[in-house]
Amino acid sequence: MRTSFHPRLINDPFLDPGLFIAFSHRRRALLFDLGDLHALAPRDLLKVSHVFVTHAHMDHFIGFDFLLRTLLGRDKEVHLFGPPEFFDRVEGKLAGYTWNLAEEYEHALRLRVTEVWPEKLRTRTYCCRDRFKAGGAQEEAPFDGALLEEPSFRLEAALLDHRIPCLGVALVESFSINIRKQSLEDLDLPVGPWLTRFKRALHEQKPPGEGFDVTWEEGGRIIKEKHFILGELARKIACISPGQKIAYISDMVGRPDNLEKAERLIRNADSLYIEAPFLDRDRERAEEKYHLTAKQSGTLARKAGAKRLTLFHFSPRYARMGRELEREAMEAFKR
Ligand SMILES: [Zn+2]
Ligand SMILES: [Zn+2]
Repeated sequence: MRTSFHPRLINDPFLDPGLFIAFSHRRRALLFDLGDLHALAPRDLLKVSHVFVTHAHMDHFIGFDFLLRTLLGRDKEVHLFGPPEFFDRVEGKLAGYTWNLAEEYEHALRLRVTEVWPEKLRTRTYCCRDRFKAGGAQEEAPFDGALLEEPSFRLEAALLDHRIPCLGVALVESFSINIRKQSLEDLDLPVGPWLTRFKRALHEQKPPGEGFDVTWEEGGRIIKEKHFILGELARKIACISPGQKIAYISDMVGRPDNLEKAERLIRNADSLYIEAPFLDRDRERAEEKYHLTAKQSGTLARKAGAKRLTLFHFSPRYARMGRELEREAMEAFKR
């Protein structure tokens, strides 16, 4: 299945957790968790529009500074989501620096920060020009399981138990649009930026009878255009297929009610990224630390009907034993 989203783990499974999801044909990306981000190029970080921090343990949040450092001075708004008390964590980070020069920056970075509570979303905005001052107005909205809804996808979340509330997240793509190259050639249409505009029009479910201009561009300038009817053009060149679901679970205890909650969130995921810090022979230790074992992760993935399983967040105690963690999870997954 081809997709509009390209997820990749940021680090080796023994290093800090984190998933980077790039959008096809768009300068945009999502980030799940803010662990060590040095493996991401600045051009990748600059694409990030929304960040979902599962919880603020250091291995999931230490990258906040690196992200901020990269974005500072840009005309950009980045939205961060986190569990209850996330404002305190973000404000603590922001209070750690001196911002006397920030109001002189030509471009003003804004951080929108949302705390996810069982039934509520609370949002505050922090502006670079105001020296990221805390305590501004707070917005409130009901939380019905979705953190973000856009024409092409929705972002679902659940609060899981990791001795503290911890977010599990799933990106659910509405449907995906693939362009038939051959059809473009048959119609003598160029490949170009108009395709992004075209896909967006379909995702936004613009009326099929609406007009649409295909443009020929050179050096950013339109040199020719041709008029079409959106729906007719779609029938000729687009192949529309169901969207992907990409789920991410990091840091949760493997107790029955918690597993059931996670299972509901990740049901039928095409790609599941899930922690597997411990071997099942150390299950007691895993429970003490409020983490899953590889076997629990594999079993959860199978029960939820996930199609692909990727493991991460291996405990350093299993250095050079990554294969064993993989084997244990995959055995439970494929059983
Ligand atoms: Zn943790
Ligand atoms: Zn962790």
